[in-house]
Formats: sequence, C-alpha cells, structure tokens
Amino acid sequence: MNLPDCLQANQVSVRALRQSGLPVTETTYLALGGGLGSFAWVDYLRVCGTTVNQIAVVGYEPVPYGRFQRLCRQSQISDEQRIRSDSGARPDNLWGWPGYAVQEMVGLLRHGRWVEARRIAWQIFSETALADNYAPRARTVYQALEREMKRIGWRQMFHQGEICAIRQTDDGRYVVVVVPVGDGRVPHCLVAPYLHLALGHPAIQFSPESQAYRQSTGDCHLLVQAYEQHEHIYQQLARRGGLVILRGRGIVASRILQRLDEIRQATGRDIQVIHLLRNSLTADTAYGRARRRTRHHWQWQPYNFPKAAFGGDLREVLEEAMPEARPALLAAWGGSTTSDRQDWRELVVRGRRQGWYRLVFGAVRCIRPNGRDRLIIHLQEESPLPQESRLVADFMIDCTGLDDRLTIHPLLADLSGRYGLRQNSSGRLEVTADFELKQLRNGYGQVFLAGAMAAGNAYAPVDSFLGLQYAAQRSVAALMREDVPGLGTLRGWESARQWWRWWQGVDPTGGP
Ligand SMILES: Cc1cc2nc3c(=O)[nH]c(=O)nc-3n(C[C@H](O)[C@H](O)[C@H](O)COP(=O)(O)OP(=O)(O)OC[C@H]3O[C@@H](n4cnc5c(N)ncnc54)[C@H](O)[C@@H]3O)c2cc1C
Repeated sequence: MNLPDCLQANQVSVRALRQSGLPVTETTYLALGGGLGSFAWVDYLRVCGTTVNQIAVVGYEPVPYGRFQRLCRQSQISDEQRIRSDSGARPDNLWGWPGYAVQEMVGLLRHGRWVEARRIAWQIFSETALADNYAPRARTVYQALEREMKRIGWRQMFHQGEICAIRQTDDGRYVVVVVPVGDGRVPHCLVAPYLHLALGHPAIQFSPESQAYRQSTGDCHLLVQAYEQHEHIYQQLARRGGLVILRGRGIVASRILQRLDEIRQATGRDIQVIHLLRNSLTADTAYGRARRRTRHHWQWQPYNFPKAAFGGDLREVLEEAMPEARPALLAAWGGSTTSDRQDWRELVVRGRRQGWYRLVFGAVRCIRPNGRDRLIIHLQEESPLPQESRLVADFMIDCTGLDDRLTIHPLLADLSGRYGLRQNSSGRLEVTADFELKQLRNGYGQVFLAGAMAAGNAYAPVDSFLGLQYAAQRSVAALMREDVPGLGTLRGWESARQWWRWWQGVDPTGGP
C-alpha cells in the first residue's frame, strides 16, 4: 500500500496527520493481531481495571481463536480432539483455576458419566508419572474464550482490518495505519502510546523441494502442507486407498497419521504410509531432570517444552543465561517433539508391526509428477547404506510446521528495517525480559511483542497459551511500574475480587 506523504517519515507529525484528512482515532492501549496473544494482553489489562474505551484491537479474524481454530481444523485437530496444553493453561482465565479438567469433570458428573469423570480425576492426580497428561478438547477452549470475550467486551474494542504500517509520532506515541475490511478500504489511523504486537507465524512452511514442485507444476492437490485444506486426500483414500508420504515429527504428523489409520480401519482400504524423515533418532535427550524419550525415531514429550520452562527453575535458567547461550538451551528442551500420548505411541508400534506404516530416512532431492496423478520423490537415502532411490506415492503431506522468518512478514520486516530492531540468535526480534521492543521506545511510548516472533529470548514457551499470558503479565507489570494511569494492581483481595467477577461472568470494571 502507498502511504500518504505525512506517514513516510520515521517520526510522524501528529499535526500533519490530523490535517491529512485521514480518519484518526486516539486510544491508550492498542493490541495488534487480534489473535490469542492480543486476547491474553487485553484480558489482563481489563482485569487490571482498564476500561473498554481505553483499548482498541486490530486484526483480520473476527474472533481471537480464528486463526488457531483454522490451523487446528486443517491439520485434523477437530474441535472434539484434545490439544497439547495442560488443564491450567486457560487463555480465558489468567488464574488458571478451576482448570479445564475440573470443568470437564463437573460437566460429566452433571450428565451422570461417572466413569469418564473418574478417569479424568485419576489423570490429573497421577499425570505424568502414571497416566498421560490431561489436555482439554479444542471445543472447550473456544467456548471458554467466547464467554470471556463477552465478559470483557472484545467486540466493542475490535476493528477488523489489515495493519499496514507502524510509525513513531513526534509526541511520544505511535500511529498504526489500518485498512479496514470492506467499507471501500479507506485507510484509518489509530494513535496510542502503548502497543502490543502478537501477529502469530507469518506463513506456513514448505520445504525447498516442495516449493520447487509447486512452482514448476502449480499443483496443490497431490502435495499439500498439513495446515492447508486437504480433505480431498482423505476422501480419495477412503474410496480407493493409496500411498501417502508424511514429513515432519510434530503433533500434526501424529494427528494426521491417526486420521489415516482411522480411515484405514473404517473403510478397510489398503492405505500405506511412508514417514519420510531426514535422519534417524535413537538417543533420548536429557537436561538435568528433564528427559525427552526417543522411541521409533519420534521424540515424545508432554508439552513443547518441559513444564519447568513454563514457570519453574528452567524459566529462571533461561532468563539468567547469556543471549548467546540460549539457542543451545532451547534446542535441548524443545524442538520437533510430539505429545507423549499412549494412543499415539501405540499407533506407531502397531503401524510398524502391521507393515502399513514405514520409516524411511533421507534427504529429498526433488519431487516430480509422474503424469498419472502420482508423485515421484527422488531421495538420497541415509540408511541402511547411503544410496539414491525413488518413491512413487499418491500424496505427500508436509507437516514441517510454520515459517517464522522475520523477513516474510511485511509489517515486521518494514518495522525492523526502519527502526533498526535487533534480532536475537534465533533470528527473531530481540525483546527484554518484559517483552518490550526496546529500540522502539518513543518518549513515554512503549511497544511489546508476544508469540512466535518473540521466540529465542528469555522465555522459552512464548508461543503457547501460558507463554502468551506470561508475556501479558510481564508487559502490563512493566507499565504498572511506569505508573501508567488507569492500571490498578492485581494483588491479594483485588485478585480474589476479580476472580470472583470472572466466576460470575461479570464485566471486570463494571461496564465501559
Ligand atoms: C495447530 C496449532 C496448535 C496449537 N496448540 C497449542 C496448544 O495446544 N497449547 C498451546 O499452549 N499452544 C498451542 N499452539 C501455539 C499457540 O498457542 C498458538 O499459535 C496461538 O494462536 C498464538 O497466538 P498469537 O496471537 O501469537 O497468534 P495467532 O493466534 O495466530 O494470531 C495472530 C493474528 O494476527 C493476525 N495478523 C498478522 N498480521 C496481520 C496484519 N498485518 N494485519 C492484521 N492482522 C494480522 C493474524 O491473522 C492472526 O489472526 C498451537 C499452535 C498451532 C498452530
């Protein structure tokens, strides 16, 4: 988008902006992204006494869980499936109590489903030593978020549109240029001293070979990324079976393998799966008492980082570590892991035993169509002996994840180039322990960053429900230290009072 002249400078004159004729709205807190990270920040601000008319939110998706839900559904985590966080990681409830597990148990007991309720009670009592860790169903998370959205007045604060540019102003604030959805797409400016960016992952990730295949053939049917709509694959397999190549080792790969098995069992079709991995993995990973098991070349771990990295001693270790030491710690604790679930472990064992699920190790050299609606994958196999080989498959599902490169997010790339934002050793933006983008400080104005683009700093699980809440808490606490007007503290009785309001579903400040 071509910005008007008054918005070209790094320090925009507020007077010139007002005279430009562009619609300008002034507010105090501006949350950019409108996803779960924005929701966590806005929820925290509201609970700390900020009113609806002091906050504005901008994003593409009308509901904060919009993008999360779409990515989950497309990667086969339907609303009924269980996700990967624990009972207390509730983006709708910053106290985390009662957790989703208690809520689910109460619901089951109300319907007389004693056995299931008892199973959950056992699970939360004995996880992870004797039982798999508890995880809520996706639907439960969405419903809880809907309730909290109503309570805090999300829809009144929300502006749907594309954020095109962010600039500092000459009076210590920031101006954000937004092109609204519909309405002739006339740009609108929002001016605020406190900004929060949570823009999620810039794009889905494609391996270079998959990209080359897409570019040369234009085919989006035989080779898909797991986060793309790809229901046609399951429909064709249910009709006539086939061979699928799966790439990636995370929870999406596990869930897709499970879905393929469900179709295999329901239809009786001959569905074969080749799990194509770059290298074999046999050794467990350990860091102090945190241990990640490796079985069948998958790495199993309840969450994407050990629990102690969320709020225990590993959180402190990372915060105190030198920035250069952080990538090694993050690699030791995280990486491509899948959820340590009994059903998924058993699925891998059964699939290998029955022969419909096979592992192949090697690097993909190129992917070509074979002219008859199939794919040919040329490989440099790693084991048992290095050799060139080829696979012919009906489909390939790339589950290698999401792309976090700063350069591919136009807004962040522009911001980072223009204001010289520093990158950390993981290639994301450097933030302070309070999640502030220090180089963007403008007088009293401050900008905070949460979510995937803040990875590699002092907190490991930034891209998780708990991590987003932690970032919200740290950044709001930093504002409290600056005595920002309208922000109350959330300690002792005030916290208990606010929790009671949450429990009753009452607006945190008693109205706008
Ligand atoms: C499939 C999947 C499953 C996950 N499961 C779990 C789990 O079980 N537990 C857990 O704790 N975490 C989980 N996560 C991780 C994390 O909680 C989510 O990624 C979460 O949605 C991150 O929130 P966010 O606000 O940073 O990003 P998002 O929720 O993606 O929101 C960012 C928003 O910014 C918008 N945006 C970006 N650029 C612009 C722009 N220029 N203009 C307007 N809008 C823009 C996007 O459209 C998007 O709506 C999961 C992630 C995925 C992808």
